[in-house]
Amino acid sequence: MKTLLIAEGRQGKLLDSSYELLAFSNRLGAEAAMFLVGDEASLPQFDGRLYLADAAAVGEYNPDAHKTLILEIVKRENPDFIVFLHSAYGWDLAPRLAAALKLAQVSEIVDLVDGGYELSCCNAKMRRTVLPKTSPVVVTIQSGAFGAAKPAGAKPQVEKLEGTGLPSRVEFVGYETAQKQGLDLTRADVIVSAGRGIGKKENLPIIAGLAKALGGELGATRPIVDAGWLDHSHQVGTTGQIVHPKLYVACGISGSIQHVAGMKQSDFIVAINKDKDAPIGTIADIFVVADVLQFVPVLTSRLEK
Ligand SMILES: Cc1cc2nc3c(=O)[nH]c(=O)nc-3n(C[C@H](O)[C@H](O)[C@H](O)COP(=O)(O)OP(=O)(O)OC[C@H]3O[C@@H](n4cnc5c(N)ncnc54)[C@H](O)[C@@H]3O)c2cc1C
Repeated sequence: MKTLLIAEGRQGKLLDSSYELLAFSNRLGAEAAMFLVGDEASLPQFDGRLYLADAAAVGEYNPDAHKTLILEIVKRENPDFIVFLHSAYGWDLAPRLAAALKLAQVSEIVDLVDGGYELSCCNAKMRRTVLPKTSPVVVTIQSGAFGAAKPAGAKPQVEKLEGTGLPSRVEFVGYETAQKQGLDLTRADVIVSAGRGIGKKENLPIIAGLAKALGGELGATRPIVDAGWLDHSHQVGTTGQIVHPKLYVACGISGSIQHVAGMKQSDFIVAINKDKDAPIGTIADIFVVADVLQFVPVLTSRLEK
């Protein structure tokens, strides 16, 4: 079995997500080849073939030109899977490729089961299993779902691709840094986050009180933000901020993939949940099985003393 992994670079630097693609490939037990539009100075460490196109020549974000290059590599490698991360780059490029090759595309895979692919549905409250009707298949994987392979220390066998003058209907103009409004959680050493388990908006001060007692910031899951209880600058996760504080306290949070992908790099994780089987327990360093509305006020008052 063979995978073609579509790695990503940003402004000359390889993105760590390349190792998530490798983890997925390892999980399949497949042999991997990789494609990257990037820079020779920032290559992935893996033992395999890397097709490298120079970002300066091709344009770092030019899906039309990148598709043309990948189509050539597909002919040479004949992979069973063409694998993207479910990122802005992946969800733009993957369907173009699937359409050009007339292949099935399976998007946002969170797990592999019995030869099929598990995808989130119903706002990630449920999962469904799908089987593609074509082989090869184009897939995108959910960030954080398969972990990251350890950089192997090995150098890939690089095959440089000629990428100048490729026909394209789009022009890459440049990146614009989004203006950060409100809270910058990425700089916080301590984050205490509220999840749906807090029950109602009126209970938010209980969680904010613990954040204050620990000298930290208040984070939240998406349902809290969607309900309008806090603004989006508090949201942690794939569609919020990716944080790595020294201490992360998850209060009434189940531990969905989309939330965990945003906080799993925290140095130390404390989770408080009344369900002993909540998935957050599997990544917590300390898992307190308790009612958050009873436990947190006691903890806060002890800390204040
Ligand atoms: C495309 C997409 C992007 C997404 N992006 C994000 C994102 O960036 N960030 C994010 O957070 N989510 C995101 N989500 C939503 C995500 O899938 C989950 O729905 C969400 O993270 C769940 O939030 P939660 O843990 O607060 O709620 P729930 O999953 O409802 O969990 C609540 C938890 O609280 C516990 N609980 C209930 N009462 C108590 C109590 N009294 N004491 C203690 N525990 C209690 C329950 O046991 C449960 O485990 C995204 C979803 C999609 C589809």
